[in-house]
Amino acid sequence: MQTILLKTWWASVRGKRVAFASGVILGAGITLVALELPYVNWQVAVAPVDTLPLVIRHDAKGDGRFDAPRSGGRRHRGIDLLATIDSPVRAIRSGQVVRVGLHHGFGQFVEIEHGEGLDSLYAHLNTVRVTPGVWVRQGDQIGTVGKTGNAHHPWILPHVHLEVTRNGEPIDPVALGIQPVDTRAVTVATAARPPMDDRLDSVGGE
Ligand SMILES: [Zn+2]
Repeated sequence: MQTILLKTWWASVRGKRVAFASGVILGAGITLVALELPYVNWQVAVAPVDTLPLVIRHDAKGDGRFDAPRSGGRRHRGIDLLATIDSPVRAIRSGQVVRVGLHHGFGQFVEIEHGEGLDSLYAHLNTVRVTPGVWVRQGDQIGTVGKTGNAHHPWILPHVHLEVTRNGEPIDPVALGIQPVDTRAVTVATAARPPMDDRLDSVGGE
């Protein structure tokens, strides 16, 4: 009788322990999920500015396409997306801010490390809202659009210079699903195909 009582008592204690341990594990799991969930990237990349559609900068001072020629034989390592001054600039993916600074060319900039060798850099910002070391979620505001650095010229339209690198090598953000409208490409395509009348004239009217 005594043994049975003891066994029952032990079973209940053990049961409570198991229940308690399970609760702790479950709780920790939920906490982990709750902590991790905001950092899940729901899209490969989101737009760094709210001005939609995203438009590539083309102004008197330059061509904002990826890989466009620059002075000194350099190439444009990012894309320039038009946006209004002081509008939000957002992280295209979750990650950790690794650099915030002031550069003669970039002006005020933020650099985020997304893991797996992927980094993004946002330049010419007017204000910066993050500090090195902080974690940001996809779409979080990290600063505001400005004209700092070499974008200060009055002829240069306000834009964000978005530079994405994989293992240090610049890649076209289009590869991550960021789809800007390139007005120059549209203009060039239209120019390359003149109106039918002109075409007929140039080939003798057939
Ligand atoms: Zn640029």
